Amino acid sequence: MESKSYMVQMNGNGVHSNSVHSFNINGDIYSAKMKIHKKRWNIRASEMSKNTLNPIRAIVDGMKLSPNPDKAMIALSIGDPTVFGNLPTDEKVLQAMKDAMDSHKYNGYAPSVGYQKSREAVANFYCSPEAPLEADDVILTSGCSQAIELAISVLCNPGNNILVPCPGFSLYKTLAVSLGIEIKHYNLLPEKSWEIDLQNLESLIDEKTACLVVNNPSNPCGSVYSKEHLQDILAVASRHCIPILADEIYGDMVFPEHTFYSMAPLTNDVPILSCGGLAKRWLVPGWRMGWILIHDRNQAFGQEIREGLVKLSQRILGACTIVQGALEAILNSTPQEFYQDTIGFLKSNSEICFSALSSIPGLNPVRPSGAMYLMVGIEMENFPEFENDVDFTEHLVTEQSVFCLPATAFEYPNYFRIVVTVPEDMMVEACSRIREFCQLHYRPCNQESNDLDQ
Ligand SMILES: *Cc1c(COP(=O)(O)O)cnc(C)c1O
Repeated sequence: MESKSYMVQMNGNGVHSNSVHSFNINGDIYSAKMKIHKKRWNIRASEMSKNTLNPIRAIVDGMKLSPNPDKAMIALSIGDPTVFGNLPTDEKVLQAMKDAMDSHKYNGYAPSVGYQKSREAVANFYCSPEAPLEADDVILTSGCSQAIELAISVLCNPGNNILVPCPGFSLYKTLAVSLGIEIKHYNLLPEKSWEIDLQNLESLIDEKTACLVVNNPSNPCGSVYSKEHLQDILAVASRHCIPILADEIYGDMVFPEHTFYSMAPLTNDVPILSCGGLAKRWLVPGWRMGWILIHDRNQAFGQEIREGLVKLSQRILGACTIVQGALEAILNSTPQEFYQDTIGFLKSNSEICFSALSSIPGLNPVRPSGAMYLMVGIEMENFPEFENDVDFTEHLVTEQSVFCLPATAFEYPNYFRIVVTVPEDMMVEACSRIREFCQLHYRPCNQESNDLDQ
């Protein structure tokens, strides 16, 4: 087992062969006798892996979550619409997958960017006269998450920065930081239904800014931007020549009285990488099908960005081929009623939640217009027992067995996020428990300081 030892003739006749000179190479001790000591295992996780941080995990893992044993747990924290079984995908979507499987045609490698036919189907589905798309403008990826990763990776070098919403989806930061890209948070305004504070946004732009991330409809806010607001955002990007990464995974998931506007058709000069996928609208996040739609303008992206995206797609040969094989049928045969029913449910559940919570002293829910979430402000000064949103939501679990994600996980303290995909009876029960909890802990803030003197 031990390495062979070598005698070194120091002076040519071997007389002084025991004179020892130690030296050290990569942590291994060698002596002049060149006896190589047993190498120690010294395997360290890479810097990149250490710099890959999921803020949601960091917050949740640090919380003491011990539910009240007398009450069944209700988790309003899970952004997966399939967990309670109340929101199945459409039968046509399932059939498309079965057909793709049974055809035996999708067991091999696809081109790294996806099958031509599948990309064509996506291009046709999202094509509009103002923002035409062809198969070559589409790259299929492993979920919208990989689409976002490719988009950030192709636009940014280490040392660049990207602008991301606050509060916002934590993946942008997780990906960027591990790539050595700086994050700058721009503020959303709860009093303006989470519109972007455009002045704040513009003030953050510098010569190192490589990309502006816009998430509409929003996770965690459930907000949906008006056409005018999107045009104002595009005007900022245009003034500073910053390309946009539009995270439109909740595209078209908006309540009936609202309209979803994709960003690309609203501009004729700002290049946009629009990221989307099947996860949310088709309610199949586990299928890991996503895409990037390349909306170039005046060759601002040019061949270079396209080729860069193709090269990056070759790293892991992205999307599952069975789902690719089913994609055309999924997009073209999902009945309108499926989308409408999903939206109807989400709207009704979020109304139940919003109206229940808005009548609770100390809470300020912000009415959502789409997606699957709503944010609730906590008047911390009226809950003096609790330090912050993490503490508040921790106690809500201990006493009422209701878990909501503290918005510190989205870099936005003193709020929590509610997922509205849970069954209606659970939503009603959760809201009544939140009411009980707040009524018990609410202490009206006394503004008159002379009260203390009486
Ligand atoms: C869920 C989600 C994604 C990721 O979608 P996958 O297809 O599951 O990778 C991306 N962006 C936002 C805002 C999301 O909420």
